Amino acid sequence: MIPFFIQKLFFYTWWKGKMKMCGCIFCKMAAHEMPANIFYEDDQCMVFEDINPQAPVHLLVIPKKHITSLNDAEEEDCNLLGHLLGVVARVAKEKKIDGSGYRTVINTNAEAGQTVFHLHIHVLGGRRLGWPPG
Ligand code: 5GP
Ligand code: ZN
Repeated sequence: MIPFFIQKLFFYTWWKGKMKMCGCIFCKMAAHEMPANIFYEDDQCMVFEDINPQAPVHLLVIPKKHITSLNDAEEEDCNLLGHLLGVVARVAKEKKIDGSGYRTVINTNAEAGQTVFHLHIHVLGGRRLGWPPG
């Protein structure tokens, strides 16, 4: 028999996770509860077009698991993070921007301009991109 306080702890952790996901638009997209122009999908991630593209190719690669930002990725997420990068390279090739070049961006928290608090990788390409970024 699991002690009551352990049960409560499990319930609290589960509930916190659910609550976090409730208002998250990218969780909703990953669950097909909100429309998206999906370019690629597998059991761990989804790739869709950014609603406000900043380049001829502007895709967002997201994990299906809710991770608020790169700051919140844990040791157990390392394989998932590697998988996301592999998918970036794959979609860049499919979009034929691998040769000309593309930029991958992960904005983390306010000063970097993160506006959606579900980890995502921007994939930008199809035009010359300036450096340094603004
Ligand atoms: P961030 O500023 O957090 O790095 O990037 C969030 C990105 O998500 C922005 O480029 C924004 O245009 C995109 N975005 C925000 N809401 C939606 C949405 O409902 N659908 C899609 N496809 N992209 C979105
Ligand atoms: Zn989410």
